Amino acid sequence: MRLALVLLALTLTGCGGPSNPPGFCGASGVLVRTERDVGECADFAALFIQARGEYEGHWGPLDLKGWTVLIVADRIAQSGEDFDGYTYSDLKLIKIHDPILFLHELHHVQDGFGHVGWCADFVPWERGVSPAAGANDTNHLSCGQ
Ligand SMILES: [Zn+2]
Repeated sequence: MRLALVLLALTLTGCGGPSNPPGFCGASGVLVRTERDVGECADFAALFIQARGEYEGHWGPLDLKGWTVLIVADRIAQSGEDFDGYTYSDLKLIKIHDPILFLHELHHVQDGFGHVGWCADFVPWERGVSPAAGANDTNHLSCGQ
């Protein structure tokens, strides 16, 4: 009977389980935090390190001392719009719903608020760089017009 219960328990494990708790980890001196159920912190940290390396390799070093990257479960509501990424320079905080926007947000860290001139330099570069090659800022920033 006991063995039957154990076997039954083993066969029912695909239906549910504990949620993935919020977490935090380091990524080259930057604190990465994850909200509940977004995934493993280490996976996002690896993507962030890759994006930062790509970014700094082209645009030069960023001062990210004291910055936090927060991976959020839902899009970010700000000023009446919803965003997949948002950089709060005063808080040294990057909120990301979709990690494909790491390069975009890193460019805000360096360039500040707004997108003036991005169609001429940043967007063409971003199109060819992983992990943001699919970010499609061309449409988002109306660069084709
Ligand atoms: Zn932006």
